Amino acid sequence: MPELPEVEVVTRSLKRTIRNHKIIKITVNNRNLRFKLQKNFEHILKNKIVKNIKRKSKYIIFDFDNHFYAVLHLGMSGTLHVPSKKKITNLSFYSNPVLPKKHNHIIMNFKNFKLIYNDPRRFGYFKILNSKYEFDEYFTRIGPEALDKSFNLIYLKNKIKNRKKNIKNFLLDQKIVSGIGNIYANEILFKSQISPMKSVKKLTLIDLDKIIKFSRITLKSAIKFGGSSIRDFKSISGDGGSFQTKFKVYDRENQKCVKTKCKGIIKKIYISNRSTFICNFCQK
Ligand SMILES: [Zn+2]
Repeated sequence: MPELPEVEVVTRSLKRTIRNHKIIKITVNNRNLRFKLQKNFEHILKNKIVKNIKRKSKYIIFDFDNHFYAVLHLGMSGTLHVPSKKKITNLSFYSNPVLPKKHNHIIMNFKNFKLIYNDPRRFGYFKILNSKYEFDEYFTRIGPEALDKSFNLIYLKNKIKNRKKNIKNFLLDQKIVSGIGNIYANEILFKSQISPMKSVKKLTLIDLDKIIKFSRITLKSAIKFGGSSIRDFKSISGDGGSFQTKFKVYDRENQKCVKTKCKGIIKKIYISNRSTFICNFCQK
């Protein structure tokens, strides 16, 4: 599943490709995405110019100006492709070298190219928001982004009050902080030397400070390396990211802890059915 860094990478390449271009025509092959695509989607967006492409948490926002937006969530396996003669951009899912056409659900035609939304598992979706009110309302459900200044010590201190959650589930709760998914929650807690099972009630201010600091460092570094190419993630150009080679704890079961002087071996456990990697020696 693409997490914040991967969505940011897609957003940046999408912005370079379609900003200020006009949608000439949209073909919808399958409306049954996670939420059914609204009936007149293709007509509403026809002849609209994409003024900007932005990201909010894990949502990609097509900004058509005047508070008119199409919001895209890539779900588990959604990808965007711009096929061209010079370069094959329709790269693989699950090591398949061919973009499976039957999963090309939405095709946006611009003057000289087209943008394909492909999604084998159909957990992604598009939603049109056509006023400032609708836009703000839609995003009130999600908490501040981990990279945002409002994700700070005062905010976190207030949020952990009277809660019993463990810190891993807390970080994964998008209403509390948005943009941290399973991989990055594992990495952040390892770097902060905090056990994912620790109750948020027991976190000290120093712990919270570390969590904020390492959330930023981890996400920024992942964006820099083009996201993590695990399973099905590819950016719009078809290039994979390389952050997976920088994982310190995620997917390192039975390997030695990378912290100097630590003799721990990484264990894999499950917290709320999600794979969790931990060094019992240095994460307390
Ligand atoms: Zn360790």
